[in-house]
Amino acid sequence: MSPHDRGCAVVTGGTRGIGAAVAERLRRDGWTVATLGRSTGCDVREPDQVERAFAAIAADHGPVLVLVNNAGVRDDGLAIRMSHEQWRSVLDTNLDGAFHCTKRALDSMLAARWGRIVNVSSVVALRANPGQANYAASKAGLVGFTKVVAREMARRGITCNAVTPGFIETDMTADLGDVSEHVPARRAGRPEEVAACVSFLVSEEAGYVNGTTLTVDGALSA
Ligand code: NAP
Repeated sequence: MSPHDRGCAVVTGGTRGIGAAVAERLRRDGWTVATLGRSTGCDVREPDQVERAFAAIAADHGPVLVLVNNAGVRDDGLAIRMSHEQWRSVLDTNLDGAFHCTKRALDSMLAARWGRIVNVSSVVALRANPGQANYAASKAGLVGFTKVVAREMARRGITCNAVTPGFIETDMTADLGDVSEHVPARRAGRPEEVAACVSFLVSEEAGYVNGTTLTVDGALSA
């Protein structure tokens, strides 16, 4: 029996942008996919809401065997002028949210002795972008978190990897205008191009790819 006949996939922030493309791609790959977002009733910053959402998903679709921690926000400003609220809201969503969901998903993955976790980090975890101290800290934190979870779970058939996208055309980057001149590929990326990376990392054949980061950025960080 293939893994997608034994359980389901959860994509946080799957209501639009990269998360929606990931959800669509995983469905095409054969997974039953549940998406989480504030607009659908689950704020990943709130452990109680995460707990309730995962319990409902397990009841409807069986054990969660794939988790894509994609929910994210940005709230830019120079570090010297950044408010504590600006700092906290980005860390709470991008990093703490991934922690709450991972902790919950690991229960069913451990029971199944199979699991795939993919954390959607960012190229700014690797390459500084002034004005994004909160966002960069959250995304670099996710890379560290990814490596530790990978090592802790490696003997249990569970992998944990990150993807680091560059500029991808979504609501999040709509205010940035045309970024192509800053990218060696001379264009922004498409959500589907990130989804293809996630699809590989979730696949059975990626079972020995663990604790690493797959960059999808048109050579921005090269
Ligand atoms: P987007 O279009 O703004 O979508 C963000 C998603 O996150 C939405 O589905 C939103 O759903 C969800 N979300 C935000 N806060 C949430 C919360 N507290 N609880 C649950 N869901 C929440 O952004 P995107 O560009 O697709 O970004 C997706 C991920 O990729 C983010 O982690 C982002 O940092 C990362 N990324 C994006 C780019 C880029 O260039 N676009 C580059 C690198 C990395 P609701 O509004 O329903 O809550």
